[in-house]
Amino acid sequence: MISWGKNQKVKSVVDGFITSRRIPHAIMIEGENNAANLELARYIAAAAVCDNDNVPCGSCQNCHLAKIGSHPDIAVINPLDGKKFLSVDQIRELRAEAFVKPHQAANRVFIIEDASRMNPQAQNALLKVLEEPPKNVVFILLVPSKTMLLDTIISRCVLLSLQDESNDNQYIETADKFIDTLLHGSEYELAKLLTPLEKSRVEMEKFLGTLSVRITARLKSSKLNSRILDSLFDDIKYYLDLLATNINMALLVSLIASRSKGLLNK
Ligand SMILES: [Zn+2]
Repeated sequence: MISWGKNQKVKSVVDGFITSRRIPHAIMIEGENNAANLELARYIAAAAVCDNDNVPCGSCQNCHLAKIGSHPDIAVINPLDGKKFLSVDQIRELRAEAFVKPHQAANRVFIIEDASRMNPQAQNALLKVLEEPPKNVVFILLVPSKTMLLDTIISRCVLLSLQDESNDNQYIETADKFIDTLLHGSEYELAKLLTPLEKSRVEMEKFLGTLSVRITARLKSSKLNSRILDSLFDDIKYYLDLLATNINMALLVSLIASRSKGLLNK
């Protein structure tokens, strides 16, 4: 079950369309915490495929498949392996796929996990299907901030703005300092900045999440150092993967410091 916390307004909107069985065909979830965005998207998707009275019931086969991420009528779309952006071809495929009847549920759901990773061309391709959506299809677009998408896309979607529940704000300053130190400071200073995070994997994970949001924000406001920041952004996924293994935290900190600093010399 979702913990709604500060997001009671969003809860009432979602409850409203779920209980009335009028799930909008295009929903945009904006929020800095991608995991929370995805959790809400999966909740709405389960409600769209569940065929019991009290959706999502949580116990029928559709709900079960939705929960374990293998429902044939729920697709989560990401850039192809090794690619940074969703290609126009992927969006065209999605468009064609949207016109295929659901496999086993009443609806099909397409979740675009990071819709900010669509260039204007891909967004325009998506726009066509949002303008004239097939029946029984729900598109859910996830973004750190709606400002990353074209106005024409935003205006087609019901917007759900999530406030971050975790106390990520405490890391905004550290994340900004990390970026500045990376660009202007030493590897030693970078490692020193991260040392307090050695104590907790959870804190490190939150920091890395905030860092990726701050990088995106910087890239949006200025093209300065974009090559370095882009590479740093890509590395964060690698660090999160390492974090999920049992890597020694001190080792991880020094790896992040040296690898990030190394980006300047590439
Ligand atoms: Zn169900």
